[in-house]
Amino acid sequence: MPQDAPQTSFNRVMLKISGEALMGDQGFGLHPPTVERIAREVQSVHEMGVEICMVIGGGNIFRGLQGSAQGMERTTADYMGMLATVMNALAMQSSLEGLGIHTRVISAITMNEVAEPYIRRRAVRHLEKKRVCIFAAGTGNPYFTTDTAATLRANEMSCEAIFKGTKVDGVYDKDPNKFDDAKRYDDVSYDDVLAKRLGVMDASAIALARDNNLPIIVFSLDEPGGFRGILSGEGTYTRVHG
Ligand code: UDP
Repeated sequence: MPQDAPQTSFNRVMLKISGEALMGDQGFGLHPPTVERIAREVQSVHEMGVEICMVIGGGNIFRGLQGSAQGMERTTADYMGMLATVMNALAMQSSLEGLGIHTRVISAITMNEVAEPYIRRRAVRHLEKKRVCIFAAGTGNPYFTTDTAATLRANEMSCEAIFKGTKVDGVYDKDPNKFDDAKRYDDVSYDDVLAKRLGVMDASAIALARDNNLPIIVFSLDEPGGFRGILSGEGTYTRVHG
């Protein structure tokens, strides 16, 4: 760890980002400079000695619900969505390794030629060795989202919190891009998120976090140094907790 690395109270965290975070301004797919920018954010937290789990969505490539809306059988469409997350995970792995960080892509759907299968104890060992673990293929089950996958893996890996990187710096009472008077919460309870349908994560993910007392920290991934700043107690964010 570099001598001048700032301090953090976190030892092990989950970073959840949507697939759309990797597409830059293109509107679809992967934008390599954007992937690298996010990889650098991860690198700066890795330098603090924090053990990092990641889950990346697949919405920049394929979403099951969109496929089924167009007449595709839902479970097949969901498997396609899960495969999209594997592509994103491989792109992030490539960027992180380019920065000299050791990583593992761990897939919930076995595909031994491209990624390790998910074995909990093995993943924990990777984290102890400071390898960034990128959990791919969601939960491996249709009808779920990668938010639920991130919450599930964060619980299994005993992460202290989920950091949900978004385009805005927290959770608002209404869409801050549409309403000037939207108010950001510093803190909000799981139950309020569910009751007020605040757009943090889907309901199954919130319920799973609530039932296991896992805090969710929503912050802006567009802010340079934002991830590291939040881990060292700086910047603006919303904390979702019990
Ligand atoms: N998906 C799934 N099971 C999971 C996780 C994901 O079936 O456990 C599928 C689902 O079709 C979803 C797609 O993968 O639409 C991409 O994931 P998500 O929508 O969560 O991506 P994000 O919105 O975070 O980019």
